[in-house]
Amino acid sequence: MDLAFSPEQDELVRTLRQFARRELAPHSAQWDRTGEFPWEAWRRMGELGLLGLRVPAAYGGQEADFLTFGIAMEEIGRGDFSCTYGIQLAGLAGEILGRSGSEAIKTRWLPPTASGEAVVALALTEPGAGSDAANLACRAERDGDGYVITGEKSGISLGMAAQAAVVFARTDPAGRARGVTAFLVPLDLPGVSRGPLRDMGTRAIGRAVLAFDHVRLPASHRLGEEGTGFYQVMQGFDYNRIGIALACLGVAQQSVEETMVYVKERRAFGRALARFEGVSFAIAEAATHLEACRWLCYRALWLADQGRPYTKESAMTKWWGPRLAVDTIHQCLLLHGHYGYTDELPRSSNACAT
Ligand SMILES: Cc1cc2nc3c(=O)[nH]c(=O)nc-3n(C[C@H](O)[C@H](O)[C@H](O)COP(=O)(O)OP(=O)(O)OC[C@H]3O[C@@H](n4cnc5c(N)ncnc54)[C@H](O)[C@@H]3O)c2cc1C
Repeated sequence: MDLAFSPEQDELVRTLRQFARRELAPHSAQWDRTGEFPWEAWRRMGELGLLGLRVPAAYGGQEADFLTFGIAMEEIGRGDFSCTYGIQLAGLAGEILGRSGSEAIKTRWLPPTASGEAVVALALTEPGAGSDAANLACRAERDGDGYVITGEKSGISLGMAAQAAVVFARTDPAGRARGVTAFLVPLDLPGVSRGPLRDMGTRAIGRAVLAFDHVRLPASHRLGEEGTGFYQVMQGFDYNRIGIALACLGVAQQSVEETMVYVKERRAFGRALARFEGVSFAIAEAATHLEACRWLCYRALWLADQGRPYTKESAMTKWWGPRLAVDTIHQCLLLHGHYGYTDELPRSSNACAT
């Protein structure tokens, strides 16, 4: 049993941590306030290979293993959580296009997705179908040698910035999961419209409602056989859940490290806050929980890389990681006293030097 990263993985951690600290963190609060899409950061992530991790090498991707994907999610999460959506969604869409797209679709969409020039969203959720995703109502009807797509998708990350979306639509009204088919839909086609959702955070990813009003699509835009769409997207969700957990842990770890700097500087009752056990114990507990959850995540990704079952572990990480991150960040906020209730954190003087 080897519980260490390889020298290459250690190097990747160093590179991405530096990138996140220097190029993402300084802009993160502004992206979130204005909701502007960080195109420049996207291109930089493309240059670093982060948007093509699950894209075939022949189309500009890395074909990276799952562990590498996890490292990328955690380290980029330390700098800007919104940017982790790029890794995640370019990975999911890239995998589906790479596996099931026609040659023309792959050539048109994969290289720019991997380089950060194009954004492809993933449109599964609908106003009336979320958790029960197989129950979707958006339909794709045969029409000559193509399809006509009609329906609405809701809560779609990157929906305002994307040039195309992998859209899941019903081709068989009776088939439930087996009646769902995936399509690559360019979002400039006649009949497509979109509107923004006003989110409480990660505004840079511009979640959107996408509407398809009799959108005509050539059959070449179908991804895989009819009825395989639901299974294609579900295959990607298991490893993505772990990535989401790691991105949350990255944010929480960053917060703990910034809090450690703060409590060493801030004085009360004649000494640094860090000297009080009521403060240091809370930080030690948070660090312990984060470490435990991280290793659950990396073990799950290791199982995935070994081709072993990991659905159970994936569900555990998605349940624990985000919840632990919220608890940890709340604790960090409290330790910042009245500053914690402003939107001025993290202060630049607080920025962790690791
Ligand atoms: C930040 C963010 C980004 C997203 N990005 C995308 C995206 O890019 N593409 C996309 O397609 N979708 C996206 N979604 C949508 C997401 O996938 C759905 O929110 C999710 O599938 C849940 O569906 P719902 O929101 O309709 O909730 P519902 O299914 O309506 O559920 C509402 C509540 O009921 C609970 N519930 C539902 N069923 C059960 C049950 N059987 N037992 C107990 N409790 C249950 C749920 O846990 C939830 O708490 C995003 C959502 C968020 C918040």
